[in-house]
Amino acid sequence: RGLVVAVDGPGGSGKSTVARELARRLGLRYLDTGAMYRALTQLALEQRIDIEDAAAVGELSERAVISVGVDPDAPTIAVDGTRVDAEIRTRAVTNAVSAIAAVAAVRGRLVAQQRQIIEAAGGIVVEGRDIGSVVVPDAAIKVFLTASTEVRALRRSRQLGEKGVDDVARTLAELDRRDVLDSTRAADPLAVPDGAIVLDSTTMGVPEVVEEVLRHCGQ
Ligand code: C5P
Repeated sequence: RGLVVAVDGPGGSGKSTVARELARRLGLRYLDTGAMYRALTQLALEQRIDIEDAAAVGELSERAVISVGVDPDAPTIAVDGTRVDAEIRTRAVTNAVSAIAAVAAVRGRLVAQQRQIIEAAGGIVVEGRDIGSVVVPDAAIKVFLTASTEVRALRRSRQLGEKGVDDVARTLAELDRRDVLDSTRAADPLAVPDGAIVLDSTTMGVPEVVEEVLRHCGQ
């Protein structure tokens, strides 16, 4: 099935930038599993489904068709045939996604789809929260990327185009809340996978992280 590189970590740790760059440098495909949880969340909000209603959310995940493009230069995400690349990055989706991702039926469905994509890819970098621990525990390379909460909030805020101190403070509070939900949920909580290389992008910076992982890949 080719080389599989798992990149896990909390929001704003630089995961996406690192994972995409690794895929480009290694000539591999790229899968953003967070985008799949976000796409389902976008659909739930659009259909006015109560995101705290696990049964309704689980049912939605059974009928929704999520399609992912795995080109690291142009990743795409669609749900029921509609592209939602921009929609999944809104604050509304970001603040609702942890509730959706905590539903065991949702995870069962999406993890199965992720494994199919990985088997078919012929070499892929996969980013998420449970990739090295649950989705592909036998990945050749596992990376757990972290950073201080402040640095992560600043990065997220910049991505959202925010400038004010109040905006950053709000983003930090929301990130903290999502970290707690993602690390304490019953189903596949965010955790450092066995055998992972743990890197902190607070001190290293993203380009150095990429170089360090490439060294582990023998490049
Ligand atoms: O990485 P990103 O911020 O896009 O992930 C959005 C959310 O999707 C996370 O906060 C988490 O709740 C969920 N997620 C997950 N498992 C993954 C990837 C993302 O539970 N493998």
